[in-house]
Amino acid sequence: MKSLKKLLLILIVIGLFAAAFTYFRDTAAPLVQLTPGTGPVSNTTPLKLNLSDEGTGLKSLKVEAVQGDKHLLLLSQEFPPQTLNAQIDLLLGDKKLGEGPVTIEVTSGDRSIYHLGKGNSEKVSFNLTYDSRAPIISVLSRTHNFRHGGSGLVIYRLNEEVKTSGLMIGDHFFPGFKQASGNYIVLGCWPWNLKEADFVPRVVARDLAGNERQAGIYYHTIEEKFRHRQINLPDSFLQQKAPEFESLAPGLSDPLEIFLKVNRDVRADNRQKLVELSHNTSPVALWKGAFTRQPGASTLASFADARDYIYHGKKIDHATHLGFDLASVAHAKVIAANSGTVVFADYLGIYGQCVVIDHGLGLQTLYAHMSQLDVTVGDQVHSDQPIGRSGSTGMAGGDHLHFGVFISGIAVQPLEWWDASWVKNNITSKLVQP
Ligand SMILES: [Zn+2]
Repeated sequence: MKSLKKLLLILIVIGLFAAAFTYFRDTAAPLVQLTPGTGPVSNTTPLKLNLSDEGTGLKSLKVEAVQGDKHLLLLSQEFPPQTLNAQIDLLLGDKKLGEGPVTIEVTSGDRSIYHLGKGNSEKVSFNLTYDSRAPIISVLSRTHNFRHGGSGLVIYRLNEEVKTSGLMIGDHFFPGFKQASGNYIVLGCWPWNLKEADFVPRVVARDLAGNERQAGIYYHTIEEKFRHRQINLPDSFLQQKAPEFESLAPGLSDPLEIFLKVNRDVRADNRQKLVELSHNTSPVALWKGAFTRQPGASTLASFADARDYIYHGKKIDHATHLGFDLASVAHAKVIAANSGTVVFADYLGIYGQCVVIDHGLGLQTLYAHMSQLDVTVGDQVHSDQPIGRSGSTGMAGGDHLHFGVFISGIAVQPLEWWDASWVKNNITSKLVQP
């Protein structure tokens, strides 16, 4: 009889332990995360809700948007048993929210029997700002003349702070830069390889909440005829260049194959590098007035010359020449076309030893095939300052300077930037606008 009592007591103790274990097994409420959990959002901003309860699992969820005493139910749901994690995509969508602060209240409960069976519940609040209005764009500059391959400048104003704004032309985005006056300046171009029908410049602006608006500009286009040229490739040129290009075309030994590899793949890589360099630009103009053309040099090749490469009487390749080839004497002094900051001074494939100078607002100049570089990255240079000597490094048959002008990495016609009256009428006169 005594031992039966003892057994009963042991069972009761075990039972109590089991009950206590179940009761206290999960005393923590679900973890709740919302991304973004702060800052501006629009009705189309994707909100990501992350829930987890590693104890007994998630049971219920309620999400409300609260503005003042207005409560709008966004979501209410129950989870199936054993749901330890949940990722839920939310949109504020067409809920009738007012502009301004909004609190997202997330209440989530678990399957614990703690709190006398009610389980653990957590209400977490996230303070966001609701903004459903796209920025308003006011274009301030009036006339915009775009020559095929040439440049143009647009000035605009926005009514709110934005994440990005600029000019969209074809697939190209040209970033705008906010000035001390509050106005934005953007340099763009009619890219040499874009058909007139596809050239429809638009100012675009996207605010911090993701609302986007576009605005057209008044513009006038001027067609341009580009030249067609044939470039003969004698064996002597290919052999002379092969040692320099071998490192750019590893695994190839035939001089013609090496040339083709460099003229196609390396050329494309080098142009991509110029696009990357364009991100490294000053938000204010560093240049002044017209650009200097290399003094005393004659023109060997022009901008956007279409080039067929002829080998033993047959066309073997094609490329577009996106700069000016200027030649005077061998190892001629090369000068900076305008003031700016050196952002590249090194060997770069088809351009050989070259210098890239940033003039601000996405405008940059390239000096290629040089035999000697007298500047390094970070140097501030002024107009007409010597930066090195001409040469024939890279894809060059003889000593000359290849000069290129770029806007946000897209090659543009240098003739305009050398022309003082074009610069005055199309650039400087707009920059002095209030
Ligand atoms: Zn050239």
